[in-house]
Amino acid sequence: MPPLAAGVLSNLSGRKNETFEVSVISPLSGALNNCDRDLAYSFDDGPSIYHGEVEMLFDNAKAKYTSFVNGMNWSCIYDENNVQTLRKAVAAGHQIGSHTWSHAHLNSLSPEQQDLEIERLEEALWKIIGRVPAYFRPPYGECDKNCVERLNKKHGLTVVTWDVDSGDSVGASPSASIATLNALKYPQPHMPLSHETYQSSVETVAPAVVPSLQKQGYKLMTIQQCLGGKVPPYKIIGRPQERDETWTCANNV
Ligand SMILES: [Zn+2]
Repeated sequence: MPPLAAGVLSNLSGRKNETFEVSVISPLSGALNNCDRDLAYSFDDGPSIYHGEVEMLFDNAKAKYTSFVNGMNWSCIYDENNVQTLRKAVAAGHQIGSHTWSHAHLNSLSPEQQDLEIERLEEALWKIIGRVPAYFRPPYGECDKNCVERLNKKHGLTVVTWDVDSGDSVGASPSASIATLNALKYPQPHMPLSHETYQSSVETVAPAVVPSLQKQGYKLMTIQQCLGGKVPPYKIIGRPQERDETWTCANNV
């Protein structure tokens, strides 16, 4: 068992009788900003009320996406609609990655506070989907060398950023985002950034861009797949739990 998932495993100590699989060997090191092949469309800051539309679009297009989620950002991850959304996305083969508990500026936190940001979300996802993500995207792309090393070594996380920004979080219009993403040329690999918290990113940009990228020849796949499948998408795989009094976003860190 790697030391990497120590935080989560200590949280799981009350569940000794349950078998679970620890599947990570070692993460990809450094912070990766692009795929090895094809294109990994990603949606950050969820789960949001638009996530179901993202999933329907990608399922209908026979494509996969990656969702980097928070514990408490726009809503609480334990809300029942978020729980159902996440379970459905995992069942459909999309990838869920970590984006910290509270959408934190990691570089301004102490190592202990960084650990809390990682572990509190890991605990939530372990309970909700029975899986602990092996991939992480730092909010704002902010994670300096020490931060990346800590995430790699202590938490066993593969750290990814992006190579193309749709611009949705900094005020780009939907048509500007569509132009940015439609300018990508197959077979150059890409790892574009977008956010599922903006209605236009989900209802206007993605529906315009997904078919045109596919028409060029891109396979739209998860980040784990576009990085060659060398590291599995989840550090630990068990089974989802049932809601209890610990499923709360109170006492937010
Ligand atoms: Zn974010």
